[in-house]
Amino acid sequence: MQRLVLATRNAHKIAELRAILAEAAETAGLSGVELVGADAVPGAPDVAETGVTFAENALLKAHALARASGLPAVADDSGLCVDALGGAPGVFSARWAGRHGDDAANLELLLAQLADVPDAHRGAHFACAAALALPDGTERVTEGRLRGILRHAPAGDGGFGYDPILQPEGDTRTCAQLTPEEKNAISHRGQAFRALAPHIAELIGSRSRSRNRSR
Ligand code: IMP
Repeated sequence: MQRLVLATRNAHKIAELRAILAEAAETAGLSGVELVGADAVPGAPDVAETGVTFAENALLKAHALARASGLPAVADDSGLCVDALGGAPGVFSARWAGRHGDDAANLELLLAQLADVPDAHRGAHFACAAALALPDGTERVTEGRLRGILRHAPAGDGGFGYDPILQPEGDTRTCAQLTPEEKNAISHRGQAFRALAPHIAELIGSRSRSRNRSR
């Protein structure tokens, strides 16, 4: 079984990616790959997100982990891009109010900044880049987006981050009011990882390795 390391210690993200890869297994011909978290890698680096795009940050994290572990590695980077703010907070989404990961403060600051912006100009999207890196430097990166509009006040208890204020296009609920399955089906992260699955299959799945062996 080929091990693939995911650049996170977040059990929720590992479970989410396992589900997406299991679903993609049939369509992408992906098999023989075991997904493990960064916790399984002694000395896994904590990588500073110094890139200015989601793809740059995802690649930085995937390459650092592939180098440290000697295993293929997958990483993602995501955020909220608001039309009226020229794409901000973007790669700064997790630290918009100053302290990394303070979801409540980030959301409150963003709502205050947009207080006077009318509904017609409240378009935004969640964006995610998913990257695969091999120890030899080979890399693939894919992206996904979830478009919607921003509410004036939070609604819903599910999800995390900016979920309570993004209402996906074609829905009347916010992301925080969707079930995890409903959100995975349309989310930026779901799209990016589903697009990455065929690359994982091609580069490290048992199908590609058995094909190489028969050459
Ligand atoms: P990352 O963990 O570096 O990718 O940072 C992602 C940040 O963007 C999170 O802290 C959230 O603020 C925001 N974000 C990304 N994806 C989502 C989502 O699906 N829902 C809500 N907020 C998100």
